[in-house]
Amino acid sequence: MRFPRVIGVIGVAVTLAILVPPPAAHVAESPPARHAAPVARPTHGDSPATRDTPAPIERRMVSGFAPPALMPQTAEPTLPAPLWYDQNPRLIRADHAGGLSLDNFLVAGDVETLTFERLSLSAVADDFLVRETWRRTGTTDIDGHLISVFNPSWNSAALRDAIGWQRRGFDQPHAQLGTLLIPRSSGAANSGEEVVERFAIRLRLTPLNVPAAQITQIDAGTQYASHVVNLVMPGFGDGRLTGDDYGLELDEAARRFYTHFSDEYASIAFVPRQPHVVPYDAFHHNVRNPIAGLGALPVFDDSAAYGSAGVLRSVELYPDVSFTSNASSTHAISHQWVDYWDWSSLAGGIDRAGRAPASHTPLLHPGEVYAGAVLDVRRRVAEVGGGSAYVIERTPGPALLHPTTRYRMGLIGPEAVPELLVFENQGQFETEAFAPHVGTAVDGAWRRVHINDILAEHGPRQGPVDDAWSRATVVVSRDGLLSAEEMSYWNFFAARHAATGGTTTWDGVPSFFEATGGVVPLRTDVTPLHAAKLVETAETGHVSIAPGEFRGVELDGPVPARIAVGESVTISGAVTTTERDDFNIACAEWLPYGSARNIYECAPIEGNRFSIPYRFAAADAGRHQLQIFLHYPDPRSPSSLVVPLSPISGITVAP
Ligand SMILES: [Zn+2]
Repeated sequence: MRFPRVIGVIGVAVTLAILVPPPAAHVAESPPARHAAPVARPTHGDSPATRDTPAPIERRMVSGFAPPALMPQTAEPTLPAPLWYDQNPRLIRADHAGGLSLDNFLVAGDVETLTFERLSLSAVADDFLVRETWRRTGTTDIDGHLISVFNPSWNSAALRDAIGWQRRGFDQPHAQLGTLLIPRSSGAANSGEEVVERFAIRLRLTPLNVPAAQITQIDAGTQYASHVVNLVMPGFGDGRLTGDDYGLELDEAARRFYTHFSDEYASIAFVPRQPHVVPYDAFHHNVRNPIAGLGALPVFDDSAAYGSAGVLRSVELYPDVSFTSNASSTHAISHQWVDYWDWSSLAGGIDRAGRAPASHTPLLHPGEVYAGAVLDVRRRVAEVGGGSAYVIERTPGPALLHPTTRYRMGLIGPEAVPELLVFENQGQFETEAFAPHVGTAVDGAWRRVHINDILAEHGPRQGPVDDAWSRATVVVSRDGLLSAEEMSYWNFFAARHAATGGTTTWDGVPSFFEATGGVVPLRTDVTPLHAAKLVETAETGHVSIAPGEFRGVELDGPVPARIAVGESVTISGAVTTTERDDFNIACAEWLPYGSARNIYECAPIEGNRFSIPYRFAAADAGRHQLQIFLHYPDPRSPSSLVVPLSPISGITVAP
């Protein structure tokens, strides 16, 4: 048996697994055509408007990434380097009537202007993008580094034009404002040639009916609720200027946490109040690993550096909006165990490709993977023709942790790990943003990897069985305690991660518990050391949609998030938008994930009121988004024109 490769630095954290969301060409969900004549009901085949790739995310890949112990310390970040900003308002509600500003948007380096591609529903001729120039409003200094300061802002109409058409809901409480372009000189081959690095700027949105949390303040820099802790650390993030994009002071923040909260968590998830602009979606940093057989991840314990007495296993950072994503959260947690096996060696010397291959699972069959180098969890490889060919399919959901992950957690034995086919051409989807079109052929040559090969390469898995997991959530602010609204927001979404059901996203990503096959509970409640524990009873699963969530209409009541087959639901209410005064038909579209069969029901608007009933049939079972369309007469034709309102997801029609 070969020994795992030794990582020769003791006492520093040895893995820093990263999530990098797909670098989509522009946006994954293009805006629906506005004012298009609805000759028939809107179609939902594989059109870009309804492609099931969710959050429009656009970020660069991290290339050449290695765990920090394997690479020299970064001297200085590449300039210019976008740092962080304040979203104003901090959370955007559907009833927000004002505009948006990104206050004190900091960029390390001497930069006078920045180019920003804002998403725009009305910029039809320009691929739904408006190119803007941000001009520096001043400079400042952090630890001797020159910082350029920008203060871009948009009025209400521009904000709606950018985000009003994007799907949102409890399963996706964020939207992309646009993409920041940062010039880079390319490598030696074409020196002097300009390339750009692209950073998605995503906004934090809040549903209207997030329950208010009880909050206890401990001191001027510490408060907590039932499932979230808030710490004030004025220099939090400054480490990025002397380190790298992962240089946030998570060890210091963890030690602060333990002065007031119990050392009983396997992990701590940190969220900065000031969203950070970085080339990753989240990261998971192992601080202790008691399990042998995981490959390049050795058995080690660095928990003392974080203030934990051998309990803490990892810290995580969610830089902007990714904490609220089931896929990002479970992807990050799974990095506790995956994927540090040497798949190139296991599969006979194949060349790895995709994101950070040293810590992500290769393109393989069968099964979906949360921390995939080539595919994200919404896609997997299906066998067709009795094994004569392989194609990309949509993961049907709820997406499960891969058997190799459950084996590494100790949940199943080696005999339960299926033989795997690892494809030789790992780079075949590099332009497909981790979610190739359903039906795309997979270049067929593959190598078989059996669990015996893994045992021979990396030895048996030995160590504790991880049949329970716990994670504290800490929001760190540079500038004072969070507001009650912010505390309630983060508290709710931290509590929601512990749900055992009812939180599956439109595209099929369930709670962590369900991703483990209903085996591993995740607890996220906060245990203070010297103060009373707070308990909330609000439900986090199947939370209904508030009547005001669809801008432009006010519904008569909430829309249920769980609907039984056979049940009738009526979407009724009043048109409130003042955009026009001649709307005459309202339509409700129920769109199930992964199906071209949408439900499009319409009713006349009388006065300003409408009422659209629909009884759900067995064929309608699935996970739906609901979008309301307002029609008005077209003076030039017998058909009508239509204004779409926001699509809201998180509705399950269950048999
Ligand atoms: Zn990852």
